[in-house]
Amino acid sequence: AIDFKWIRDNRDAVADNIRTRNSTANLDLVFELYDQYLTLQKEVERLRAERNAVANKMKGKLDPSVRQALVEEGKNLKEGLIALEEDLVQLTDKLQLEAQSIPNTTHPDVPVGGEESSVLRKEVGSQRSFNFAIKDHLQLGKELDLFDFDAAAEVSGSKFYYLKNEAVLLEMALVNWAISEVSKKGFTPLITPEIVRSSVVEKCGFQPRAKNTQVYSIEDSDQCLIGTAEIPVGGIHMDSILAESALPLKYVAYSHCFRTEAGAAGAATRGLYRVHQFSKVEMFIFCRPEESGKWHEELITIEEDLYASLGLHFKTLDMATGDLGAPAYRKFDIEAWMPGLERYGEISSASNCTDYQSRRLGIRYRPSPSEPPSTSTKKGKGAASGPTQFVHTLNATAVAVPRLIVCILENFQQGDGSIVVPEPLRPYMGGLELLSPKF
Ligand code: AMP
Repeated sequence: AIDFKWIRDNRDAVADNIRTRNSTANLDLVFELYDQYLTLQKEVERLRAERNAVANKMKGKLDPSVRQALVEEGKNLKEGLIALEEDLVQLTDKLQLEAQSIPNTTHPDVPVGGEESSVLRKEVGSQRSFNFAIKDHLQLGKELDLFDFDAAAEVSGSKFYYLKNEAVLLEMALVNWAISEVSKKGFTPLITPEIVRSSVVEKCGFQPRAKNTQVYSIEDSDQCLIGTAEIPVGGIHMDSILAESALPLKYVAYSHCFRTEAGAAGAATRGLYRVHQFSKVEMFIFCRPEESGKWHEELITIEEDLYASLGLHFKTLDMATGDLGAPAYRKFDIEAWMPGLERYGEISSASNCTDYQSRRLGIRYRPSPSEPPSTSTKKGKGAASGPTQFVHTLNATAVAVPRLIVCILENFQQGDGSIVVPEPLRPYMGGLELLSPKF
């Protein structure tokens, strides 16, 4: 439920927000469509009332000619109504599509500007120094026989890869370690569907129908491949009223992610950095609105603790308005040092989406101090009466596998081409401490 009344009442602020966030949303078009929608909706209601009035008139005893005239009138009204109702469905769809691109409101502390305006929140470690000529992850992976990009290019296309040998163990170790660490903090582990309805993708704030979309749609169906587990996890409580006592609901979800990477030409695309398919462990929280700032902090701390324990050097950034995307009210990215690529690269992102997704997904809760614990009712069935509110949703990356493999290979390489496995991952790799070249 997009709140058009609120958008109309706050038109100037919404337009300003669209500008500072570099959004392509067309507010004038949204209002034009909304006006058309209201007019058409009134007309449909008027015709329905007329049709009902005619039906009522026919209830009594009538002269046959009068009855015949009423039958004719009713028939005409019905035909007109069917046509208008179809128009209304189409107009509603057009309105929703346009309105969906209006971004969330913005936290007042978010720096205004493009990527370069982001503000440093925290820095951990420092750039590692090496006393030998270092290699990038592609070279290291080649020597250790960890990847096959050539076969993947033949089988799937560019920006696909096979992981081989210890790289397979490394991916599984990263995933198992992240799930295990995060679930210790009270997050429920999930493995999600990776094909979802397009409508759910849209409700989460992604745009499968946009030009140059990041989303892979499945031809001749209303389904898409997920770009992130955020979508199926966000959808898990769709159209629900949650009990206040059940909040926060915290999930840690493992999935593959699929991205077209349209428009990424020219961006860093070497090796594993930007690929079409990758594994990711994602954290997701549904909470009471007044607590979303606190949970955002918690998610960032979990991310920072995970990467610090791997021994990475990274910076946490409070992302500027131009880099927030549509759903986030505030977003913190973590960029880690990748010595072979000779730059910092984004390894994770934590967003507070406030009620942006929950409004569209229909996820509410009923604030009530005397509520019985842990119940969730679909469409409010059986729920106690009283006003409901939208929950807030947050999402954050625990482990995006390929970029962490880049970090591990490039940061922990030794002069002899071997790689030191970060300590926390060793128990998940049968105690393996070193990836060594096989001569
Ligand atoms: P996002 O959901 O866009 O915030 O991405 C979450 C994380 O996934 C990023 O911080 C990256 O670490 C990783 N990621 C995003 N896109 C790709 C890609 N095309 N290839 C590899 N990793 C990616």
